Amino acid sequence: MQWCTQSRFLALPQSRAILLALMKRSALMTKNRLVYSTETGQQCPQCKATLARCRCADKPAPPTTDGWVRLQRTTKGRGGKSVTLITGLGLSADQLKELAKPLKQHCGVGGTVKGFDIEIQGEDRAKIQKWLEGRGFKVKIAGG
Ligand SMILES: [Zn+2]
Repeated sequence: MQWCTQSRFLALPQSRAILLALMKRSALMTKNRLVYSTETGQQCPQCKATLARCRCADKPAPPTTDGWVRLQRTTKGRGGKSVTLITGLGLSADQLKELAKPLKQHCGVGGTVKGFDIEIQGEDRAKIQKWLEGRGFKVKIAGG
């Protein structure tokens, strides 16, 4: 900021108003610069890309939850194979993928991310519950 050129206003009667306006403007410019440097320097907590590259804002946000993760047993397709549907995780698609991977390994079964839910083969809900609780989730076994 060129405070040296601004300082001559101090002698004038209307100097206070002008000075205030200048200070406001320079504060705004400083703010913009900070935002700019944040964009190039910091990471998005969700996708770990720099904020300038992050496209999380373009992706649909996970639905709001009541804080409970629910494990629902459901049968899939004509084969009638049981799967466990995990709903209410409140995570982004990328985070769901990150969570599903070790969970599948833990259960020793296949699974998939569907929308904002995770589907795990089988119906060992107690095992899934324990694993999720170990990661800080509050988990309810819901339905039949
Ligand atoms: Zn991101």
